Amino acid sequence: MASGKKKRRTEEENREFNQDWTESFAFICNTDGLLTCLICHEKLGHNKKSNLERHFTTKHTQFADKYPTGDARKKAVDELQKNSQVPC
Ligand SMILES: [Zn+2]
Repeated sequence: MASGKKKRRTEEENREFNQDWTESFAFICNTDGLLTCLICHEKLGHNKKSNLERHFTTKHTQFADKYPTGDARKKAVDELQKNSQVPC
């Protein structure tokens, strides 16, 4: 294991929207910089992964069950995005 380079801490980047969240939690950031749920269109003001995670795992368990993480969810989220037409 090389130890020459320091790893960037991901916690410091949590003020920015992470594209992975779209795939994982079906959230996008709208033009106001608010996180918007593609499933129920609820908006979250705080750009934090834990908020998205909680929203997704408490409100959209059926979605999570139906579309397990990976290809299936990616496709489902893709469809939601196409339907909502919200610019990021
Ligand atoms: Zn939602």
